[in-house]
Amino acid sequence: MNYQYDRENIFAKILRGEIPNQTIIDTDFTLAFKDINPVAPEHVLVIPKGPYINFDHFISKASSEEVLDFNKTINEVIKKIEASPGSGGQGYRIISNAGEHGFQDVPHLHFHIVSGRFLGPMILKK
Ligand code: AMP
Repeated sequence: MNYQYDRENIFAKILRGEIPNQTIIDTDFTLAFKDINPVAPEHVLVIPKGPYINFDHFISKASSEEVLDFNKTINEVIKKIEASPGSGGQGYRIISNAGEHGFQDVPHLHFHIVSGRFLGPMILKK
């Protein structure tokens, strides 16, 4: 595994407080904030505070505490936006893009949590 984290990426700047964000949840290890260009009525990004580029980088290098906190924060966001089908919500989608084929733009791990409208099929078939 050969990942070089870019400390000047936009989410690193958000984590350092150099760029504002609309915070939903802020924990010791994780930040959840609104996407600046939402694709649905609810579009939240969840990022670990550590310098991880994508999901496989995170799972390989992060502590159990970081991994647990990240997952728990995702669940807290789902509760907060009232999207859980088990609690009367209408559902949501979690997406994490990685690398070139995954069309990742910002090289800091982020999970998109998208909800609030019918989302249709996951990706267009080719
Ligand atoms: P991805 O293509 O998966 O890397 O997604 C990057 C996401 O970051 C896009 O949905 C952007 O709208 C979002 N984004 C970029 N800059 C900001 C920012 N300053 N605050 C919040 N979201 C942002």
